[in-house]
Amino acid sequence: MNKKLLLVYLIILIILIIIAQLIIPKQNKENNLVTEQLKKFSYYKKENLSRYLSYKQLNNNLSINEIITNVNIGLDNPYYTNIKETTIKDPILILVNKYNYLKDNYIPSNLETINEKYSTSQLKLVLEAKLAFEQLSEEASKHNLNIKAMSAYRSYTYQETLYNRYVQKDGSIKADTYSARPGHSEHQTGLAVDVHNTVLPYTSFDKTNEFTWMKENAHKYGFILRYPKDKTNITGYDYEPWHYRYIGIEHATYIYENNITFDEYYIKYLDK
Ligand SMILES: [Zn+2]
Repeated sequence: MNKKLLLVYLIILIILIIIAQLIIPKQNKENNLVTEQLKKFSYYKKENLSRYLSYKQLNNNLSINEIITNVNIGLDNPYYTNIKETTIKDPILILVNKYNYLKDNYIPSNLETINEKYSTSQLKLVLEAKLAFEQLSEEASKHNLNIKAMSAYRSYTYQETLYNRYVQKDGSIKADTYSARPGHSEHQTGLAVDVHNTVLPYTSFDKTNEFTWMKENAHKYGFILRYPKDKTNITGYDYEPWHYRYIGIEHATYIYENNITFDEYYIKYLDK
């Protein structure tokens, strides 16, 4: 072999070793520092450490809090990857999103039909959510506002039909931005309700006085706007001014006051 060439290779190798020696300790030092900061959060998960560190490198603009929350939600992976069956400790606080699903045979045990006065068709919600929704709608009517349910509990099979129809129409990439895959729909929990004011189409609900009222009052009845305009990167869904989720007054009030999503709230306070 050409001696000169061998020498060049040797020099390159030595340079690479020197660079590595300089970079690796710096990276390790940085990682150690980040790790110390991560550990201060109560929702830090040891098993997610390497994911926090890689996510931090790709998203240096995010705070440590955001790094932990997003990774715990699953956002360091594309939607619908690393999915798992959701854990049900309290059936009112089920988390269903693009990383947590309900089995095809999950049907809430206490579904009740919403009084037709507050609904535009025969729709069901879990008893607590149904009663709260009826109260909400009744109170709104006292202010001459018309808030009616137009979609509530949906079975796995119904969601499957709905999603497949959207995929046929728009393709799966587009459909995923506005429709949940079967098992991943909050409507299967019996705790989500889509509303309209019966005048404008539901997609224009945010242009109504009813929406303005909902924004300030839904939490008082235990409901939250589940897919807000400025949180699409966390929820993974387009803005849905018509979709409300029941979680009870205490949790809904916290979410309202702190302007966070249920996904974040769940990771921080319920995922113990
Ligand atoms: Zn909905």
